[in-house]
Amino acid sequence: MTQTDLFEPKVTHRACFYDLHGGRLRKKFNAATPKALIYFSEQYRIPVISKPEEMQGFDTVFFSLHCFRDFYLVAELSKHKRNGQEWVAGGNACVTPTGILWIMDYVWIGDCFDNFKRILEGERDLPAMLSQREPSRVVQYSDETISAQLIEFNDSEVEMSKGCPRRCLFCIHPWRHKYQEQNKEAVLEYIRHHPKRGIGLMSNSSDDVSYYDEVAALLDEQGKTDMVVSNAVQGLTVEVIRKRKREMLLGVEGMSERLRRVVNKPICREVLRERIGWCLEHGKQIRTVYQFNLPGETSEDFEELADDVRHFQKQYSKGSWAIPFIPNQVSAHTPFQWNVPRYSVEQMRRIQAFRESLFGSGKTGISIYSPQPLGPSKWFGQVIAEWIAITPKVSKAVDSMPTNREMPEMIEWLESQDVKLPESFLNRKEDTVFPWDNIKTTGDDPNKWRRFAKMQTILDGDLFKPKACAV
Ligand code: SF4
Repeated sequence: MTQTDLFEPKVTHRACFYDLHGGRLRKKFNAATPKALIYFSEQYRIPVISKPEEMQGFDTVFFSLHCFRDFYLVAELSKHKRNGQEWVAGGNACVTPTGILWIMDYVWIGDCFDNFKRILEGERDLPAMLSQREPSRVVQYSDETISAQLIEFNDSEVEMSKGCPRRCLFCIHPWRHKYQEQNKEAVLEYIRHHPKRGIGLMSNSSDDVSYYDEVAALLDEQGKTDMVVSNAVQGLTVEVIRKRKREMLLGVEGMSERLRRVVNKPICREVLRERIGWCLEHGKQIRTVYQFNLPGETSEDFEELADDVRHFQKQYSKGSWAIPFIPNQVSAHTPFQWNVPRYSVEQMRRIQAFRESLFGSGKTGISIYSPQPLGPSKWFGQVIAEWIAITPKVSKAVDSMPTNREMPEMIEWLESQDVKLPESFLNRKEDTVFPWDNIKTTGDDPNKWRRFAKMQTILDGDLFKPKACAV
C-alpha cells in the first residue's frame, strides 16, 4: 500500500458532526457540548445530529471527543456505522487514540483551526492525522500558534492563553503544548467592545498571563466580569480577589504541603492559608480542586486538609467554598505516566465522611460543599481508555464492574470478562513503550524520566517515611 493510498479519503462529501451529548439545534447544545463542535459546525455550516438513525444519510461523520467517557459512548454507537461511511475524531481525548482507533477511520491529534477546512475538503494526508490503517505511524501533535485574530468559541468566550508556564508533574498542559499568550491589545479590544458584561477569557492560569492586571483593571472599569478565571494559588493577589465578582477556581491538587511538593506544585501551607483567607475575608466564592490517590498519599495528608478547613471555619463566617476531589489519573506524556495508577477506597470513604460532615455548614459560618468524588469503576474506565480499544465488549465489562473495588480486583474482573490489559500496564520501566509513544507533543521533554526519578527520590526520603510508633 502506498502512502497516498493510506490517506485516500473514502468520501469527501455530505459531512455532519455527531453530538454525543445533546441536541441537534443550537439552542439544545448544553455545557457538555464541545466548543470545537459548536465553532466548526457554525463556521462551515455543517449539520449537527444526535440520533443514530440520522447518521445514515452522511458519508463522513465528525466527532469531537473531550473526555474518556466519550469513548464509551462511541462504543455504544459503533453498531450504527454503515458500510463505506467514514468516521473522523478530534478533541483533547484523542491525544491518546488507542481507545477509539478501532472504529475511527482517522483521528486528528491536537489543534485543528488551521486545518479543519482542508479536512472537510477531503485531505487526509496531513502530519497530525492518524489513519486506522497505520495505527503506529509517528504523528506530531498539532500545536497551532495562538491566532492573532481572536477566535470566539461562542458569543462570549475567547482564548487568552494556552498551555501553562508551570510544570506540575501530573498535568497534561505543560507537557502537551508550548505556553502561548494571546496578543494583549486584541484581548483588551475584545473586552472594550463586547456588548455583554460576562466574558470568558479562557486560560489554564489567568494570573500567570503577563498582562492580567491590565485585564482585571479594564474589566473593573467597564463593569464587566471574566467568567472563567482559573488561578494559580501562588499568583493570586488581593487586587484580583477584590475585583472578582464570580467564583474563583484554585487548583491546589495535593492535600498536604509534602504532596504538593512531590508533584512539583510547591504551594506551602502558609501561602495556601493566606490566599484562601484573603478570598473568604472578602466574602468571595471559591472552588479549590484537590486530587486524591497521589503517590505517597496517606491519611495524614487528608488530616492536614481537614485541619486547614477547620482553621477557616473558626476564622471566617462569610464566603462560599466548593471542595471537589478528583481521583488522580496518571496521564500520558507527563512524568506521571510511569506511576502505576491506584485507587484507595479507604481514602474515598474518608472523603465521603468529610463531605457529609459539611452538610448544613452555611447555617453557622462559611458555606462549604464537597461534591461526590468519582468512584473506582468509572475512574478505572477512564484509565484503561488510554491503553486498550474501548469496544462494546470492554464497555459492557466496565459498566457491569462491581462497585468500590481496588485496582487488582478490577483487573481481575476484566480478565473474568475476557478483557486483558498489556503487561506493561502494571509494570512500568524507563524503557516501557506506551501505547501513545508514537504521538509526539511539542511540550515533550527528554528529561521527563529524570523528573519522575527525582519524584521517587523524594518519596523514598524522610518526608514520606512512616512515623515511628510512640511507645
Ligand atoms: S496543574 Fe495548573 S498550574 Fe499546574 S501545570 Fe497544570 S494548568 Fe499549570
